[in-house]
Amino acid sequence: MKPFHGTRQKIRDEIESLPAERSFGSGWASGVLGIVLSLGGLLLVISMCTPGHLLTAPQLTPFKVGPWFKLGVYLLIVAGFMSSATSLALRQAKILGTTGIALALLATVIGQSITNANASTPLPIYFGLDWFALNVLLTGLIFVPIERIFPRQPTQPIFRDEWREDVFYVLVSSLMIQALAFLPLTPGKLIGTLTPLEATRRWVADLPLFIQVPAIMLGADFFQYWGHRAFHHFPWLWRFHAVHHSAQRMDWMSGARMHFLEILLMRSITAIPMFALGFTPLAIEIYVMLAYLYTTLIHANVGWRLPWVDQLLVTPQFHHWHHGAEKEAIDVNFAIHFPIFDRLFGTHYLPGKKWPESYGIEGHPVPKGYWAQLIYPFRRK
Ligand SMILES: [Zn+2]
Ligand SMILES: [Zn+2]
Repeated sequence: MKPFHGTRQKIRDEIESLPAERSFGSGWASGVLGIVLSLGGLLLVISMCTPGHLLTAPQLTPFKVGPWFKLGVYLLIVAGFMSSATSLALRQAKILGTTGIALALLATVIGQSITNANASTPLPIYFGLDWFALNVLLTGLIFVPIERIFPRQPTQPIFRDEWREDVFYVLVSSLMIQALAFLPLTPGKLIGTLTPLEATRRWVADLPLFIQVPAIMLGADFFQYWGHRAFHHFPWLWRFHAVHHSAQRMDWMSGARMHFLEILLMRSITAIPMFALGFTPLAIEIYVMLAYLYTTLIHANVGWRLPWVDQLLVTPQFHHWHHGAEKEAIDVNFAIHFPIFDRLFGTHYLPGKKWPESYGIEGHPVPKGYWAQLIYPFRRK
């Protein structure tokens, strides 16, 4: 039997409580928040004191200079502790509160060893555990309130079906941030040196960031459009992309569900031409951040209708139609930034006020669970 199985099941049952058991004052929100904050603090502390910078993404190094980052992590753990204590006082079932407090205390104990950890020499590889923690905390902080205030599906809970699977998707792609960030870099540079575009490349690299970033957005979405269309068109590619479309609930977490090889391939398709054209790594990194937030938004459980904006930019309604289970939603709206590409190439679909009735693939052929979905494209039918 797995360790702590009973406890984990109890925590999960509490987190997925029915609406009546998570009403205001029930201690549910403070209990869940307490666990999320304490766990976030614990992961950050672990990443900070693992030798050789093994569990930290160097992209975050600029934000860690000075005392502010450590102070922030400390305050996070304190907030987690206090939120959990509030839940203990309010809620009859104590498991959320005690778990949050236990995590906060563990983070404090491990945090004692931080001082001498950063002195060690960095290892050549790393896994972005701190990236994962900050990612979930920050995007959650932005999108959970937005989804509560402007919901598309008001009855859909935060912890809906398969939420744990989607958190795991975020975890894996955050840990693999190194591979994801650098794989396209080398071929991109290589192509750059092989093509007779040296003057153009220098001209592009000298453009200010506020021109480079939107230009990358436009260029990347053009390549993304055709890559995405290929993933829908060719049956063997579709088996990979079907994983992304298997989500039957749309929210800020559901966009993360994507087969690992699809992420690699799509990143390469979009990043290599941009590197080859001479855009700077900084501009491309800013674009990747922006694209990440944008992707989170267009999958979110947000019922905004933006009649003017949707002519120019991809909106949640536009991308929700891409995920619709009904016939008219099949093979439409491939762009993820600019709907103009769908207009140009004849795949645009945005029927006024209407939203899709349901999401996913007809017949739901994709199995549930991360590992089953990882091997799904390779399995014989
Ligand atoms: Zn698709
Ligand atoms: Zn999507």
